[in-house]
Order: sequence, then structure tokens, then C-alpha cells
Amino acid sequence: MEKLVSLCKRRGFVFPSSEIYGGLNGCWDYGPLGVELKRNIKEAWWKDMVAGHDDVSTLNGAPSAYSMVGVDCSILMNPQVWVASGHVGGFSDPMVDCKGCKGRFRADQIADLKCPEKPSKCVGESDKCQLTDARAFNLMFKTNVGALEDSSSIAYLRPETAQGIFVNFKNVCDTSRVRVPFGIAQIGKAFRNEINPRNFTFRSREFEQMEIEFFCSPESSEGWYQYWRNRRYRWYTDLGLKSDKLILRDHHPDELAHYAKGCADVEYEFPFGVSELEGIANRTDFDLRQHMQHSGKDLNYFDDQEPDAAKRRFVPYVIEPSAGADRATLAFLCEAYHEDQVEGETRIVMRFHPRLAPIKAAILPLVKKEGMPEKAAELYRTLRKRFNVFYDEKGAIGRRYRRQDEVGTPYCITVDGQTLSDATVTVRDRDSLEQSRVAMGDIPGWLAEKVTGDA
Ligand code: ATP
Repeated sequence: MEKLVSLCKRRGFVFPSSEIYGGLNGCWDYGPLGVELKRNIKEAWWKDMVAGHDDVSTLNGAPSAYSMVGVDCSILMNPQVWVASGHVGGFSDPMVDCKGCKGRFRADQIADLKCPEKPSKCVGESDKCQLTDARAFNLMFKTNVGALEDSSSIAYLRPETAQGIFVNFKNVCDTSRVRVPFGIAQIGKAFRNEINPRNFTFRSREFEQMEIEFFCSPESSEGWYQYWRNRRYRWYTDLGLKSDKLILRDHHPDELAHYAKGCADVEYEFPFGVSELEGIANRTDFDLRQHMQHSGKDLNYFDDQEPDAAKRRFVPYVIEPSAGADRATLAFLCEAYHEDQVEGETRIVMRFHPRLAPIKAAILPLVKKEGMPEKAAELYRTLRKRFNVFYDEKGAIGRRYRRQDEVGTPYCITVDGQTLSDATVTVRDRDSLEQSRVAMGDIPGWLAEKVTGDA
């Protein structure tokens, strides 16, 4: 982990936030390469889950066709949202968590509260209760909206993006012609005043989530839960996380929140231990019902397109695949890091999947004369309209290759003596180190196929 953190700093992937002032615990800044990597991960997620999702197919083992739309909700929301979601409930009191039922209880009330799992007993008395020590529950960051700083102006920085989706459920149904089953997706910042931020970006106080709330009928929810559980696991392996380090762990029924019918975590074996990248849960109709109750609005779903016999009004069940963009970025960084021996030297190479690599290709004139820089610059200008490419003419070619290996650039394209006579360039593959010649005019299509799968 130390080697990776040092590479991230040295090459501009991740910096401590406000570092010149000593930083701020739990906050991180992505540098020029880190921002590209994280954007590529978010774009891959959006393309694979939302924009590129084919809603008329039944591909990938889905129980039936479904649509997927996106939203981008505000970070500050009406504070009642967080009352309904349960986040406000224990805001400023000393709280204990139960690792058994995942409940959170006011420490001064546990003697009077019934255990949600075993109502005949009080919290802490059942065999399954595993209470933590009491601590001030300060998960949500509080702020004030408007000029007045009193209790009427309190708002919270959202601790998850999911609630923005739930409160827009009706808006989306009314405007987008979606029919159950369908999903609403969102990528955005979330904030948690974590008691103990640690393990680099893994547990931060400001982070980004990539969440889907997938609405379906209660009867089909188990099938959809299985679908999303498998689909999300495969997304990570398709992008290069090897399955021997990636674990799909089903929660034991004892671990489930009281309203959940199933939950699985996608976990990755980080250098600091196996930890969660994403949770996929069947949340039943809990969230929509909470918002119905607190807002007084009807969030039932009614499908008037169905044949008469099938027409009915119901509160949809929700399958929630909830991923962290920063944790995914950290996992892809860890997986990519390799040291190998090349020509008697240790080479550090980041083996990113070409879709995720921050720089797709480096364009290198072999020497700074004989018209090579001009030809290389011409190729660079053509490519940069479509890809993030890098031009470098400084230093020995071997050193330039190593610099690109260390930031994970999959291809180095060298303009050399032969280019001037036959208009071909040398393409060097980061992983196999093989070199081949490709016609310069074919490079844009060739690179597109390599980095996106499209020519
Ligand atoms: P953990 O148990 O690790 O705190 P969680 O179960 O509370 O995570 P969720 O509330 O399910 O997490 O959030 C969904 C996803 O958001 C997580 O799987 C993770 O990828 C991301 N996430 C949650 N908290 C953080 C954090 N403090 N820093 C970075 N990412 C986070």
C-alpha cells in the first residue's frame, strides 16, 4: 500500500486535500492522472449501466427487458428527507450500533427498546445482539441554508445519493414513460463524518457514489436481486479485477437490516484486507413507504398500459446496487500495480484495462530531428480530438517508455526513421512489450478498437 500511495503522489493520481495547509483528514484530491482514471471508471459505469443499456433486450440473464434512466440531484435537500430515511433519528445523541441487526439505538434508551430481531427482549439482551460502545453519532454534516443560523435553517450534506432518487420516483414515472421494471441511476458526491477515516481513499469523509435504485414488482424482486448481484460482480471482472481477489459475499440472514430481504457485498482483497466495494440489496418497499408516510404523497405505481386483468396499484420493491467510485478507483489502482524485471531493471507498470487507462497512447518521435517531431505532432493532434493522448520528445526512448509504463499507458506509438519512408509507426504494447508496425493512417481506428472495442 505504501508503494501505491507513493506512486499516486509522485505521478499525480491522488494528493492529500489542501496539503500545503497540512491536509484535512478523510479528504483527498485527484490529480491530473487520477481525475482521468476516476472519470473513466464513472463513464464506464454510466455507459454500461445507463446510456449503453439496451432496454429491449433480455441479454445478460435479466428476467425481462427493463429501462434505465439517470438523474443528478442536489446535495442539499429538504431536511425531512433525512427524517424519513432514518438518518436524522440519532443525530446528536450518544448512540450504540448493533452489529447483529445493524440497528442504531440511543444509548440512554436501550433498556426500554425492543430488539428488532427478537421483540420479546430488549436491545442488547438477545444472543444475537452485538452492541458497540456508545458514541456520538455524527454521520451527517450539518449546515445552514440562508441568512439565519438557527434550527429552522438546518440542512445536511447528503450522506448517500439514493434518497435523491427515491424522492424523484414519481417525477420520473410521470415524465419518462418508464414502466416497472426500471432503474434510476445517479453518480454524485456523498458526505459522512466518519469516526475513523483510514486506508488512503477507502474510507473518506467526502466521496462519490454510483447508485442504482431498480424498481420492480414484489414478486419479481428475488429474480432481479440475483440478476443485479451477478451483473455488478461481472462489471468489475470485465474491467480487469481478477476473480481470485474479488469476492461476492452473501450476507447471512442475521446481518440483514430489518427491512431487507437479501444483501450481497462485492468485496476486494486490498493490501489492508478484504473490504467492501459495493453492496447490492433487496430493500423491499421500505424507502418508498417511508417517503409516502412522511411526505403524505402517494408513491404507488399504477400501470395503465397493462391489460385490465393485470392492472393494479402497488408500491414497487427496490433492488439497490450501491457502489463507491473512490473505492472502485482504489481497487483498480491496487490491481494495476506490478513490478517486473525488464532488461535487468525493475519496471513499475500499472496494468490498467485500456478503457480505464488515464492516457490511452503516448506519441513519441524517436529522435528530435529529421522531421520526426513534426510527423509525431501531426499524429498527436489527430488523436487528441478523440482520445487522451500524450506527446513526449524528451530523453532516451527507453526512459520515455518507462514513464508511460508507470502511469499505465497501454500503447506507445513511435515515429522513427522508417515512418519517413513508408508511413508506418512502431506500436509498443505495455504488457507484452511486443512491438509491431501499423500504418499511421490506420492508427485512429486501431486505437479506438483497442481502448473502447469500437472502431
Ligand atoms: P462501510 O461499511 O464500509 O462503511 P457502508 O456499508 O456503510 O460501507 P453503504 O452505505 O452501503 O456503505 O454505501 C455504499 C457504497 O458507498 C459503499 O459500498 C462504498 O463503496 C461507498 N462508501 C460508503 N462510505 C464510504 C466512505 N466513507 N468512503 C468511501 N466510500 C464510501
